[in-house]
Amino acid sequence: MNIYGQTLEKLENYFENIGEKKFKATQVYDWLYKKKVSSFDEMTNIKKDVIVKLKEDFKIDKPQIITKQTGRDVYKYLFELSDGNKVEAVLMIHDYGISLCVSTQVGCNMGCIFCESGRLKKVRNLETSEMVGQVMEVERDSRLKITHIVIMGIGEPFDNYDNVMDFIKIINSGKGLEIGARHITVSTCGIVPKIRKFTDENLQVNLAISLHAPNDELRNSIMKINKAYPLKDLMAAIKDYIDKTHRRVTFEYIMLKGINDSDECAYELAHLLKGLNCYVNLIPYNETSHINLEKTGEKARMHFYDLLKKQGIGVTIRKEFGGDVSAACGQLRSNYEEVK
Ligand code: SAH
Repeated sequence: MNIYGQTLEKLENYFENIGEKKFKATQVYDWLYKKKVSSFDEMTNIKKDVIVKLKEDFKIDKPQIITKQTGRDVYKYLFELSDGNKVEAVLMIHDYGISLCVSTQVGCNMGCIFCESGRLKKVRNLETSEMVGQVMEVERDSRLKITHIVIMGIGEPFDNYDNVMDFIKIINSGKGLEIGARHITVSTCGIVPKIRKFTDENLQVNLAISLHAPNDELRNSIMKINKAYPLKDLMAAIKDYIDKTHRRVTFEYIMLKGINDSDECAYELAHLLKGLNCYVNLIPYNETSHINLEKTGEKARMHFYDLLKKQGIGVTIRKEFGGDVSAACGQLRSNYEEVK
């Protein structure tokens, strides 16, 4: 087992099972996440025989950075996992802090037509340790303290639910990386039963929904998941989430030229979201050479923004990152795999 995949609770149980005091878990966490050592031998306040046992039962292994691309306020990392698979993480410098966009799967099976990550089908889920490892490695490489995590990299987090929940626990733990729940955002394409499960976790973590279309006909045509969980079911689950958690939901809306950016779409979207505790994040589409879709121009984007505003919907426009480093949203991995 990889030590970075252990929640504090699991590690406490481990120590109890081997007849040790459970506070040893806190000591190990301190070495891993505060002092950031990379071997058990460096954990000098832990008895020799316990170190031997730890070495038998765990490894301390992180994904390896194989390439890094730098753009304005953005660093894109390509990782190699221990079985040779590749995933990406993106570090972004904002005025409010430093965020890392983390991958949760190798590839993705959700099949959204605009998305580069889904062009290559899912190979496997990431282990919790491989998500924690992305954060640890980027912090080490960049020498920056990551203050925000967005779970929006390659993969569908709710298709790897348990590992993602453990990941959140580890990075959120005061004894771990101590990233505040309100600084963590998980984004889903809309797997309704998992949204309901997530609601019951009662966390302060932010939920973002990749909506991208205001009606079933259009959404069906660009997001396969909508056929399994149409808008009626999705919106009902989101309403319940808001009622139970009192948290505001973010709706992501990629702007695709001639597809979902008409005035009619804006009115329909406003109507769909009216009265909900939410806001819309309009996302400039990152064009890729493999997919024949275009981004909505800036003028049309502002017009769409104004229409939503006038309808009383909270709306923001996402800052564009990384379009200039040819590695937007999953392209680093897919280009790499292609060249191979
Ligand atoms: N599977 C999850 C999280 C990963 S995708 C989800 O669907 O939410 C993270 C976000 O990036 C989603 O909103 C997705 O629709 C969006 N996205 C995918 N490809 C994109 C592209 N080329 N340009 C801009 N956003 C993109």
